[in-house]
Amino acid sequence: MIDTAPKKSEIPPEQLSLKSSFRFNCHKGVKCFTDCCRGIDIMLTPYDILTMRKKLDMSSEEFLAIFTKPQILEKAGLPVVTLKLLDDEKKSCPFVEDKEGCAIYEDRPTTCRYYPLGVGSLSYSGEKGEKDEFFFTVKEAHCLGFEEDKQWTVAEWRQDQGVDLRDRINDGWMELIVRKKSLPPSMKLSEESRKMFFLACYNIDRFRDFVFNSTFLKRYDFPEQDIENIKNDDIKLLQFGFEWLKATFFYAGQEKFKVKEKK
Ligand code: SF4
Ligand code: SF4
Repeated sequence: MIDTAPKKSEIPPEQLSLKSSFRFNCHKGVKCFTDCCRGIDIMLTPYDILTMRKKLDMSSEEFLAIFTKPQILEKAGLPVVTLKLLDDEKKSCPFVEDKEGCAIYEDRPTTCRYYPLGVGSLSYSGEKGEKDEFFFTVKEAHCLGFEEDKQWTVAEWRQDQGVDLRDRINDGWMELIVRKKSLPPSMKLSEESRKMFFLACYNIDRFRDFVFNSTFLKRYDFPEQDIENIKNDDIKLLQFGFEWLKATFFYAGQEKFKVKEKK
């Protein structure tokens, strides 16, 4: 199971569906405004990095070096990145402003959008990539949003916070993690494979460089149109990377990566 909730408190066991409802509201008037942006552990998704580095006008390499901390995800043994907090007393997020809140609100990470919900995926079934996911509320003592009157269903909250689109884009990444977690612990990935996972999922600019400026495209038989698509579209390149990792790690969807016949 992978979850995207900030790791600060125990996760309550109650599992919610899209139709489940909860009471919550967050606005500048709450006494706890921005408390949740300090002392937290925020895992960044591949699409988060893509949009945040664009917002900050940085390359993915610069963004990773300045704003993230690498970690190895327990059980999956795969590399992930979390937001590097400031070294101040409260361990603040580098983007939080006391009065105004999040300085990158339109491009805030997926975990911040979900909050106070977390999401977990239990499995992916078959090649169709159908997933078995659930949600849960993260009730932290400092968060007064649960005392507000507004009522949401999980589906309404997801739509309001724009996580549907993000989850769709990150789906291939999530599938890689869930698939790897379901393998026996003895089936470890090589150091080289872990580096490839990091490159394709998080360092999109270097991954583009790898795809277009190495022998990569000479090795596979891709349709011209597919190559054009990934050249000009970061999201398509990201999803291409997920598919390639899936074929390499799990031998799934290999027909898309046909090796060129030698002439
Ligand atoms: S990115 Fe924005 S919303 Fe997320 S913790 Fe930082 S300041 Fe808060
Ligand atoms: S209500 Fe909760 S989510 Fe909103 S600012 Fe306060 S602690 Fe953060």
